[in-house]
Amino acid sequence: MPSAAGELRLRRVRRKASAAPGRRPEPARAMPQAPSLRTGTPSPRTGTLPRVGVLGLQGDFALHAARLTELRCEPVRISLPEHLAGISALILPGGESSTMLRLLDSTGLRAPLERLVHELPVLGTCAGLILLAREADRLPRPTFDVLDITAERNAWGRQVHSFTGAVRLEPGGEEVDGVFIRAPRIRRVGPGVEVIATHAGEPVGVRQGRAAALAFHPELTADPRLHAWFLREVAELPLPEPR
Ligand code: GLN
Repeated sequence: MPSAAGELRLRRVRRKASAAPGRRPEPARAMPQAPSLRTGTPSPRTGTLPRVGVLGLQGDFALHAARLTELRCEPVRISLPEHLAGISALILPGGESSTMLRLLDSTGLRAPLERLVHELPVLGTCAGLILLAREADRLPRPTFDVLDITAERNAWGRQVHSFTGAVRLEPGGEEVDGVFIRAPRIRRVGPGVEVIATHAGEPVGVRQGRAAALAFHPELTADPRLHAWFLREVAELPLPEPR
C-alpha cells in the first residue's frame, strides 16, 4: 500500500501523463521573434539583445537585472566562470567587498573575472567600486586595480549613517539621488581618472576609459540615467534611444 503522500504523488504523475498523451517535444522555433520596440519587452531568446553580466555571488543582483531589462539588455547572473561567455559588459554590484573577494576564490571566478574586467566595459557600484579600485583598506585579497583610485571602506560611517544625498553629474551638473549604504569614500583620484559625479563637492563617481564606478547604489532609485549612461556612453552598446 503506498502512503497517502506517495499516492498523491502517483496521482499527479498519472494525471500529467494522461493530459498529454503521446506528446512530443516541441520543435525548436525556426525564426526568433524580434523584440517588440513598442512595449520595450525584451525577448531574451532572440539573442539580439546585448548580454550584460552582473556578478551574483552576493549583494544586489535583482535590481540591476531589472534595470538592464528595462534598458533592453539581457542580464546574466555571474556566479560561475562559465557564465562569463558571450557577455558584452559587466556590473559589479554593491554588497560586501571582503565577502565577494572570498567567494571569488572559492568559486574559481577570480582569475577569469579579473581578466575580463580589464577587457570589457565594467561598472562597479559601492562594493563593486572597491573591487575595481587600485587600493582599498582591510581586505583579505588584492583588488582588481582597474581604476587608479584609492577607496576607503565604510568611510561615511556605519549602517545607521546610510543616507540619500544629491549627486551632481559632471559635466553638465544634472542631479540624481544617490543612496549611500556603508559606502566607500574615494580618497585619491589618479591623473587618468575623470570624476563624473560629486556629492557635497567630493568625488563619488569616476571613469577611466571603459571602467566606471559609483560609491552609491543607482539601482535603488527609479532613475535609469546612470545605467543608461554606462550602457550607451561607456560600453557603447547599440541600445534603442530613450522614448
Ligand atoms: N561596506 C561595504 C564594503 O566595504 C560596501 C557597502 C555597499 O556595497 N553598500 O564592501
